[in-house]
Amino acid sequence: MSTTITLIPGDGIGPEVTEATRRVLDAAGAGFEYDVQPAGAEVAAAEGDPLPGRVLESIRRNRVALKGPVTTPVGKGFKSVNVRLRQELVLYANLRPVRTLPKVPHRFEGVDLVIVRENTEGLYSGLEHEVVPGVVESLKIITEVASTRIARFAFEHARREGRRRVTAVHKANIMKLSDGLFLKCAREVARRYPKIAYRELIVDNACMQLVLRPETFDVLLLENLYGDIVSDLCAGLVGGLGLVPGANIGSKVAIFEAVHGTAPDIAGDDLANPLAVIFSSIMMLRHLDQGGAATRIERAVHGVLSRAKVRTRDLGGTAKTSELTAHLVRLLRRGRAAAS
Ligand code: ATP
Repeated sequence: MSTTITLIPGDGIGPEVTEATRRVLDAAGAGFEYDVQPAGAEVAAAEGDPLPGRVLESIRRNRVALKGPVTTPVGKGFKSVNVRLRQELVLYANLRPVRTLPKVPHRFEGVDLVIVRENTEGLYSGLEHEVVPGVVESLKIITEVASTRIARFAFEHARREGRRRVTAVHKANIMKLSDGLFLKCAREVARRYPKIAYRELIVDNACMQLVLRPETFDVLLLENLYGDIVSDLCAGLVGGLGLVPGANIGSKVAIFEAVHGTAPDIAGDDLANPLAVIFSSIMMLRHLDQGGAATRIERAVHGVLSRAKVRTRDLGGTAKTSELTAHLVRLLRRGRAAAS
């Protein structure tokens, strides 16, 4: 029996890169049924909400979703769709592996790190108000429950994947209470994992160390905002946003999506790199115990990247999204035909 997953095409380059991923998944023999659920800017205009209840119901029902980037209309009173999804479905862990890929132009060798970002609180709690005219306040919420939960997730991930070190990133020298509590929870969890080294780095120093010696980092544990910013920095280390996948994981459901946004500057031009969403789908396949299809896609992607002509513009090539996808599909079909 085939598995049904929720597919959110999203806005901007979202429909192009999710369609590419769907073709690749089908060619790899993943055999999913897709429950397609539009969300985002156009949906807000048509249905009065960029994230209608049907989308959340579909994800709760199917427990797994593949998602393109989504725009939340600004200035219309809507809370961010991404933040709502993460909070309403309690997708508390954002996992983003960042690796140097063979044959991709990049400045650094040997990068192989994982970002573990707390996904439900911090400055993303959306608690902002005007104190008096000319003075506003944004509240950063850090709780013991969420900090301990994300620290445990980071150490468990490290243990499962054979990783050696967790680095907690913070600014507790300034935010003594909030980041102080985040660190206190991380330290307590770290004590229960004596085989995994634990260290702490102030976020500004972490950014400098990341561009000086990225190969020395393993698992990075961050609260929400630092996780967002450091993710893009790390994407830049390995060739850009077109390559970095992600998973939002909770105890009941998981949503797989790229780190990048809607890229309105290239949307609709067949220029987007679909590999970040394709890599996210590989994470999804492994989450669903479909390791065979995951490995087939991984091999095909490496095959494609070794040929400069088939790389997209962001990686210095000239291939369109559709050409790269067609090439991947051909490789996967050929591989399956040879195996049968
Ligand atoms: P949003 O507001 O949705 O976050 P944005 O443009 O601010 O959109 P991104 O979408 O992350 O942020 O894009 C940042 C830059 O990276 C843009 O120049 C964009 O074209 C480029 N980019 C992002 N994703 C891709 C991709 N998949 N392929 C090629 N270029 C990309």
